[in-house]
Parts: sequence; C-alpha cells; structure tokens
Amino acid sequence: MKWSWKIGRIGGIDLRVHATFFFLLAWLALNYYRSSGTAIGAARGVLFTIALFASVVLHEFGHAWAGRRVGVPTRDITLLPIGGVARLEYIPKNPWHELQIALAGPAVTVVIIALLTIVLVVLGAPILIAGDAVVTGGSSGILAQLMWVNVYLLVFNLLPAFPMDGGRVLRAGLALRSGYLRATAIAARVGRAFALLFGIVGLFYNPFLVLIALFVWLGAAAESSATQEHELLGGVTVDRVMIRELRTLAPDDTLETAMRHVLEGFQQDFPVLENGRVVGVLTRSGMLAGLGRGGPASPVSASMDSSFRTASPSEPVEHAVARLRECHCSSMPVMRDGQLAGVLTSENIAEFVMIATALRSSNGESKATVAEREKP
Ligand SMILES: [Zn+2]
Repeated sequence: MKWSWKIGRIGGIDLRVHATFFFLLAWLALNYYRSSGTAIGAARGVLFTIALFASVVLHEFGHAWAGRRVGVPTRDITLLPIGGVARLEYIPKNPWHELQIALAGPAVTVVIIALLTIVLVVLGAPILIAGDAVVTGGSSGILAQLMWVNVYLLVFNLLPAFPMDGGRVLRAGLALRSGYLRATAIAARVGRAFALLFGIVGLFYNPFLVLIALFVWLGAAAESSATQEHELLGGVTVDRVMIRELRTLAPDDTLETAMRHVLEGFQQDFPVLENGRVVGVLTRSGMLAGLGRGGPASPVSASMDSSFRTASPSEPVEHAVARLRECHCSSMPVMRDGQLAGVLTSENIAEFVMIATALRSSNGESKATVAEREKP
C-alpha cells in the first residue's frame, strides 16, 4: 500500500501505518487541546489515542491469528483511519475460512468492549457518557470513551462494504452459493454503494466520512480486480498468454528501424537479440528517450534496457505478473532453454482477462477453453 510506513514487526508480521492514520491522530490531538485548553487535557488525549491504536492493532492480530489457524499467512497489517487492514498472502479458497478470518477481528473487538465494561463496572464508574469523556469524564473517562469508540469500530467494521470486515463476510456468504468471482462482483457493488452514501452524508455532516468513502470505494475496486485476476489467471501458465508473433531488433539497428516497427504494428517493446541471445529490451519509453537524446540514427544498444527480467513458459502467469508489477515493466521476454520463446506484456494479460470474463459471463466457459483459443 502506498503512503504507508513500517513501524515494527510483531510475530513475523510487519506493522505499517498509513499516512492518513497520522492525520487522524493529529486531528484528535488538536481537538483535545482545543476542548481542554490545557497540557493535561492534551496528554489525556494522547493517552487515549495510544490506547485506541492498541485496540485496533489487537483487532487486526485477531484476523492474522485466524488466518494462521487455517493456513493463510498475513503479509502485513496497515492501520488506516477506518481501522486497519490485515493483508493476507492470498485470498482463502474456502469461503468458510474467509468467514472465520473476517469475523476474528470483530470478535477481538467484542472481547475488548466486554473487558472495558467489566473494568468500568468494577470501578463503579459511569458507562454511559455524555460528550467527550476523555477530557470531562474523570480518570475513568478515558476507559469509557475507549469502550464506546470500540463499539463504533465494531458496528462500522461490520457494514457490508469492502474493505471492511462486513464486506468480506458478505463475500464469503455469497461465495458459498455462487463462486468467488460473482460473489466478489456483488460485494464490490454493495461496497461502492456504501462509499457513495458515506461520501454524500460526509459532505453535509463530517468531512472525515468523505475520506472513509474514498477508502471504501478504492478498496472495493481493488478487491474486485484482484479477485477477478486471481480467478481467471489461476492455473494458467505463461506460454498460454504470451505473444509469439513478434519482431525483434539487433543491437546495431537504428532507432529509426524501431520507430518503423512501432508504427507498422501493435508492438511497443522489442527484445534485442545478438547471436540468438536476448541482450536487452527496447521499451517504447526507452526508444522515445533515445530519440530525444541521439536522434533516429542512434543505435538500439544505446537506448535498450539490459537489466531486464524474464519469465519461463511453464511458470504460472500470476507469478510473472507479480514480477512485472514489481519492476514496473510493461513487458518481459519469455525464455525457453536460453532461447526467446515469446513476450509477456501487461496489455496482453489484461486482454486475456477481459476475453475470459466476457466468455464466462456469456456461456460459462472455463478459462482452459479461453486459453486454448488464445493459442495460435
Ligand atoms: Zn477487521
């Protein structure tokens, strides 16, 4: 996730904080200073904020613990203004597992609420509070306020909108009947509807809700495309998706030749071959930069990328896609026994997903059929 920093590592899981979480903390601190007007008031505000932070972390570790139990490791936990997101290594195949993982976080929050209530009862402190008890409610005010904020987090988290836990519960429930792809599409639509609602309500009542709406909207979109890709690309190997008919260049070719190839065909990136061996990749941006630097007569070798990554025809497309994203590359040569077998491009993968989606929704064909059709 962009705009987030790692602040520690607990039980083998990276703990990250999103920039907007600091925005929330700053907003709270300012409010406490303003409403109390004293340093003690501000300090109580900070103490409360740290306690709140801890309860959100515990909630997320609830997800991580449940994930580990069903064999789905957690990559990292990111804290956001809407609570937090535990990013799993992969989406559990079994809807029951996803249900367990999704509900484990709220279950931890329920335990926190119960414990805080018990402590308040034992102390004989008021449970019902008016206004912001952190500043006005005496020494037990922080606990009471913490309990109520956790209640708010619990209710909010169970709304059926991605990336909130309720969205995952909804998706898992739907997936039990209609498969992950359809279930995710429906759950994402519900998520977007909630995002719109938050956005509109937020515009009138609370600007913070607009920020939450944005997260929900983006979360729904990301979840939907990730699942779609996973469902359609899972089990497909690189040789079924790669481009086989392609043009190559030699290191001594001029950029003018490359330019002509780009204009004549659909290819954007070109493997550069020397004695049958791939020595580089000329990307479109590399070509444009080279044209600006040395003009059309300059050799391809001066503008090509020689630290390119490669894929193997027999490896899963999903692995290759992960590498493509990691290096922000648009394409990757596919090598079989040291020889160029084809090129894998992000455009072609997107096309494959599009065609497969269309075929699936029209007559329920399997991805294997699509892959066979794509094969020349
Ligand atoms: Zn959660």
